[in-house]
Amino acid sequence: MNDANCLFCRILRGEISSHKVYEDEHVYAFEDIDPKAPTHVLVIPKKHFAGLNHARAEDAELIGRCHLVAADIARKRDIEKGYRTVLNVGPESGQSVFHLHVHLIGGRKLSWPPG
Ligand code: AMP
Ligand code: ZN
Repeated sequence: MNDANCLFCRILRGEISSHKVYEDEHVYAFEDIDPKAPTHVLVIPKKHFAGLNHARAEDAELIGRCHLVAADIARKRDIEKGYRTVLNVGPESGQSVFHLHVHLIGGRKLSWPPG
């Protein structure tokens, strides 16, 4: 369930500090350390898997839960007129931490397409 050397598993174990935004049995959300917008929260499953490309059918509910948590945070922060949920998948997308995470980015005008 947990990966000894994974940064986000270490955050989940409390070995590295984080600014918690939300937690339940399955999901943890925390402030990104290098925010790209006024709201930049990372929503992660407590189960370790490296990314969307490693997800299995049985992870569907968990991935959905991460998105619903992101939507709840966006609602509470009153940024529903425009926010983005992003999963970077693989090194060429910019993924740098290989524990699936949903970026919730908002609170400013967002351009499209992303780079
Ligand atoms: P990605 O590039 O999609 O893999 O996203 C990884 C994100 O994790 C980046 O936005 C980083 O700023 C963020 N990050 C890295 N280390 C930490 C940390 N210790 N606490 C919070 N966010 C972090
Ligand atoms: Zn992990």
